[in-house]
Amino acid sequence: MATTPSALPPGGSLGRRLVLATLIFCILFTLVTAAIRSWSAWHNNLAVMTGELTLVDQVFQRTLSKAIWELDRESLQTQLESVAQTAPIGRVQLSILRPGRPPEVLVLQRRQQASGSTQRAPSLQRRLSYEPYPGASETVGELILEGDERLLWQRLVGEISSIIVTQIIQSLLLAGLIMWLFNHSVTVHVRHIARHLEELSPANLKRLLRLERSVARRDELSLLEGGVNDLQGKLSDYLEQQRRDERDLAAHRDRLAELVAERTAELRAANSRLEELSRNDPLTGLANRRHFDEVKEIEFRRALRRGQPLSMLMCDVDYFKLYNDTYGHALGDQCLQEVAATLRGVFGRAGELVARMGGEEFAVLLPGADIVQARQAAERLRQALRSRALAHAASQVAAHVTLSIGVAQLEPETMDRFDLLLQSADQALYRAKSLGRDRVAH
Ligand code: GH3
Ligand code: MG
Ligand code: MG
Repeated sequence: MATTPSALPPGGSLGRRLVLATLIFCILFTLVTAAIRSWSAWHNNLAVMTGELTLVDQVFQRTLSKAIWELDRESLQTQLESVAQTAPIGRVQLSILRPGRPPEVLVLQRRQQASGSTQRAPSLQRRLSYEPYPGASETVGELILEGDERLLWQRLVGEISSIIVTQIIQSLLLAGLIMWLFNHSVTVHVRHIARHLEELSPANLKRLLRLERSVARRDELSLLEGGVNDLQGKLSDYLEQQRRDERDLAAHRDRLAELVAERTAELRAANSRLEELSRNDPLTGLANRRHFDEVKEIEFRRALRRGQPLSMLMCDVDYFKLYNDTYGHALGDQCLQEVAATLRGVFGRAGELVARMGGEEFAVLLPGADIVQARQAAERLRQALRSRALAHAASQVAAHVTLSIGVAQLEPETMDRFDLLLQSADQALYRAKSLGRDRVAH
C-alpha cells in the first residue's frame, strides 16, 4: 500500500530519524570525551595541588624552622593550624628533631581520611633547617604535607560536570541545528514534492513542480525537481499522442463504418436488382416462373380463406417453332415481347399476375374471377393480340400470331393444392390445341 505524506508512520520522518541518530552519536561522543578529559583533568589537578603544596611549604618553611629553634610552641601551633587550614592541605605532620631525643611528632588533619584507602592526593616531604648565623645550618625537623583528597575529588567532579553539561548543551544545539537545517532545506521540499505527485492527474500534467526556494540553488533537490518535471512533460506528450491516436482511430472507424454503410447500400441495391432479375423474366420483363410459384400459394390460400373464386389462364403461342424458323430467333424474341406487352395491356388490375412460364408459354392468375369472367378475359386477350396483327406467315390457323388459351377455376372441394388448378388449366390448353388452336377452352 502506498504511504501518503499525510499518513507517515510515527517516527517515520527523515528529519526526526536524523536527529535521533545525531543525539545517539553525541551521547557516545560525550561519554568518550568526558572520559578522556576527566583523565586529563585528574592529572592537571594533581599537578596543581603539588604546586600549591610547594607554595605552602615555601611560605611556612622559614617561620616554622624559626619557631622550632626558638622553642616557641605557641607560634608553632598557630602556624601549624594556619598550614592545616590552607585550602589544598588535608594533613600536616611535623616531626621536631632534637639531638639525643626521640623526635616529637605533631599531626594536624583537616578531616578523617578513610582508613585503609590509598592516598591518591599528592604529598610533600621537606626537611626543616635553621641557620642561627651564616654558615651554620642545622636540621630542626621534618614537614610532611599531604593534599586534601576530597578537595581533589570535588574539583574533579566539578570539572566533569561542567564537561558533561557543556557537551550535552552542544549536542542539543547541534541536533536542533541539524533538525532545523534538514527541515528547512529538505523535509519541507520533499513533502511538497510528495503532495504535488499525489495531486497529479492526467488533467493537470502541465502544472509543473516549483519548489519554494531560490532558483539559483543547484543541488540534488533541483535534480529531483527537474526529473519530476521532465517525467511530467514526457507523460503529457505520451498522453497527447495517445489522444491523437485515439482520435485518428475513431476517424478511421467512422470512415470504415461509412464505407461499410456504402458497401451495404450497394450490396442491398445489387441484391434487390438480383431479386428483381430472379423474379422477372429478362426478355419480356414479366414475372418469371419462380415469382409465379410464390404468388400462386398466397393467392391459393387467400381464396380458400375468403371463399372467393380464383381462376387462371394458360396461354401458348401457336406454331411458334415455325415462327422462329421463318423469321429467325431475334424476331422470335421480339414477337414474345409483343405478346408480353399485349398480356400486360389486358391484365393490369391489382392482384392479376402475368408470368412467363418458359418458352412461348404464359400463365395469368386472376384472383376473384370465376370461370365465366376468366373466359371473357381470355377472349379479350385473343382480340387484343389479333388487333396487333403480328404477321406469322407460317401459321396454319391465321396470317398473324395467335394464342391457344386454357382456362380453369379453383374448385375447393376437389383441389387441395394449387398444382391441381395448374394441371386443369394445362389440360384445357391441350384441349384448345386439339380443337384447332387460336381459341379458348376450359
Ligand atoms: P404448338 O402450336 O403446338 O404450340 O407448336 P409450337 O411450335 O409453338 O411449339 P413447340 O413446343 O414445338 O416449339 C416451341 C418453340 O419455341 C421452340 C423454341 O425454339 C421456341 N422458343 C422457346 N423459347 C424461345 C425464346 O426465348 N425465343 C425464341 N425466339 N424462341 C423460343
Ligand atoms: Mg409450347
Ligand atoms: Mg406453341
